[in-house]
Amino acid sequence: MQNKTITQLAQSLRAKEFSSVELTQHFLHRIAQHTELNAYVTVTSELALAQAQLADKRLASGDAHLLTGIPIAHKDIFCTQDVKTTCASKMLDNFIAPYNATVVEKLDAAGVVNLGKLNMDEFAMGSSNETSFYGSVKNPWNTQTVAGGSSGGSAAAVAAQLAVCVTGTDTGGSIRQPAAFCGVSGIKPTYGRVSRYGMIAYASSLDQGGSLARSAQDCAILLHAMAGFDEKDSTSVDVPVPNYCADLEKPLAGLKIGLPKEFFTADLNADMAKTLEAAIDEYKKLGAVVKEVSMPTLKYAIPAYYVIASAECSSNLSRYDGVRFGYRCDNPADLTDLYTRSRGEAFGKEVKRRILMGTYALSAGYYDAYYLKAQQVRRLISDDFKRALHDVDVIFSPVTPTPAFHIGEKLANPVEMYLADIYTIAINLAGLPAMSIPAGFIGGMPVGLQLIGNYFDEARLLNVAHAYQQVTNWHTQSPNLD
Ligand code: GLN
Repeated sequence: MQNKTITQLAQSLRAKEFSSVELTQHFLHRIAQHTELNAYVTVTSELALAQAQLADKRLASGDAHLLTGIPIAHKDIFCTQDVKTTCASKMLDNFIAPYNATVVEKLDAAGVVNLGKLNMDEFAMGSSNETSFYGSVKNPWNTQTVAGGSSGGSAAAVAAQLAVCVTGTDTGGSIRQPAAFCGVSGIKPTYGRVSRYGMIAYASSLDQGGSLARSAQDCAILLHAMAGFDEKDSTSVDVPVPNYCADLEKPLAGLKIGLPKEFFTADLNADMAKTLEAAIDEYKKLGAVVKEVSMPTLKYAIPAYYVIASAECSSNLSRYDGVRFGYRCDNPADLTDLYTRSRGEAFGKEVKRRILMGTYALSAGYYDAYYLKAQQVRRLISDDFKRALHDVDVIFSPVTPTPAFHIGEKLANPVEMYLADIYTIAINLAGLPAMSIPAGFIGGMPVGLQLIGNYFDEARLLNVAHAYQQVTNWHTQSPNLD
């Protein structure tokens, strides 16, 4: 049951091969069997079974959505009413959200079954899921290695088949990098496509929700149900959401694919280069035309991102003061002691590092030198992408420099950790949509390829990803679990 696609499951549910309750019990059983992966922070068995019962009724009445009765899970950054929503931080370990994020509402309306909340890096800050208050997620392909981050629980849950498909968020690569490390598909849509209402903020001008699943088609189905204008999010954009599945089969003949010369240099790992060349050959066979593009400002993406993301996080996280939300220290002596000890005791090391960097970059004396400069660089990077996407339909690139690294390997060196996102971060600065899909294995570990598209052109990305998945089988392979 667990390796079927959404469409196959929807058919089986309608043909009464099994009920949503049976399907849900099957997934709950698998989750209980694979707690060693640490993919879930909270499992909502009772809620899931109640929703499955309702879904079975809805299916019987004939008024069902494709996602009705399908067991999914949310990254623990999305607020879920009456269910603990932690952002993997001690700060929110006791936080029961009083309302649902718009994404949760929309998927509930489609009739999904919520299995629980998925582990992540604390407040989505990280590239390995090792900053989680609940411990790191293990990569199902090799439990000595990281699942990636920050949506590590999301990617691991899909790879280990502990949910059919899941939500994630991506501020600098957090959907695409873990998807690549775990051998699953993931899409970060255009900034403004998916509502951020009820999605706990890290860096508001970069954060964007998206979907992860075992195929581009499943990503399309889930994303379609999540996307759309929301008046509760002032950065949500009122652009119609096309039916992402309608164009999946469109032939690729004549498609123009751009290869950024700044990414395909001698520095690229040789095995990675070989894997990506093979993927490019597949695209040529499908009729695509490949051409080099140049984006000289890409090299400034990481420093610009870490100034902007840290600045925004220092402001966003000031709301955790020990008064209104979450953790409060014991016996505070006075108000200052309450603030400093609550924050000092409840935030992890990486979150504190970002708050310090961000506060510094925003301080009166340094604002122009750091924050303003970084915003200017951001504009140059967007302009580079716009120019490149004027000449080609999609840009093709690596997702990560290497396959998943070992747990603990990069913990001592934050800058080395930041470089794990070298191929993904610029896209968030530009606000463009991008997708990661499995493209092969290096040393037994999955690696991905990245497709970057024009604003609001998710349909094209999904089409280009789906076409590749029709002629390759990387995405159908699963780790060896029981
Ligand atoms: N690794 C990057 C960071 O730590 C990106 C994380 C994300 O996309 N949420 O900020």
